Amino acid sequence: MAEEKICSQCQGTGWVLKEIRGRATAQRCSCYQEQKVQILLEQAKIPRRYENCTFKNFEIHNQSHRHALKISKQFVKNYPIQDVGLLYLGPCGVGKTHLAVAVIQELIHKKRVPCYFYDFRELIRDIQSTYTPDSSLTETEVLAPIFQKEVLVLDELGAKRTSAWVEETIFFIINNRYNNKKLTIFTSNYLDREEEEEDRRDSYYKKGDDSLVDRIGIRLRSRLYEMCKIVEMWGDDYRRKVKQASYRF
Ligand SMILES: [Zn+2]
Repeated sequence: MAEEKICSQCQGTGWVLKEIRGRATAQRCSCYQEQKVQILLEQAKIPRRYENCTFKNFEIHNQSHRHALKISKQFVKNYPIQDVGLLYLGPCGVGKTHLAVAVIQELIHKKRVPCYFYDFRELIRDIQSTYTPDSSLTETEVLAPIFQKEVLVLDELGAKRTSAWVEETIFFIINNRYNNKKLTIFTSNYLDREEEEEDRRDSYYKKGDDSLVDRIGIRLRSRLYEMCKIVEMWGDDYRRKVKQASYRF
């Protein structure tokens, strides 16, 4: 086993003595703050492929990206004074998840805020699995961090069709966070529009696709509007483009 490095400042206690006005006073060692960031990052469960997403490496390709980045930075700056979360809306590959992750990374690094990341499809799968008798997860294990963490990212909202009872559970979770004044950041690929409404944004989405309301129900959708600032993003699928460009033949 690798030998653990012990901080030379505090010998691993997390405390250092400093002389203040002639009196020895215990203060938190700088390594303690560092450790706290590491612990919060581990607990946030950010998927490995998003681990390196920051504001710095977010690429701006159009006005919607510039606007989304600005709002995201503002969110971090204002935290915890603001009372609404964020809902990033837009087609695949425009950087919604990148920004959502960048926000929680910054909150952890700069403000030591306990955050949590959950993919919507995984959440549903995990909730459903707790109802099978041989499940390794209990409902409390799945839901406790969702209720408790100060900031939750729920990625790809609506990406999986849900049954009525799952819709009910999701509404309960989100509503509970809302009532407890905990902020939630959502991303969704589903265009949010009223019936029969068509506009320029349609060209970015597949024709005949469901809208957000079709996927999450009208009650949750109207709750989202009360608890989030909508951040719309558009553009090509940059992930695909960049990937293709990196294949050299
Ligand atoms: Zn130390």
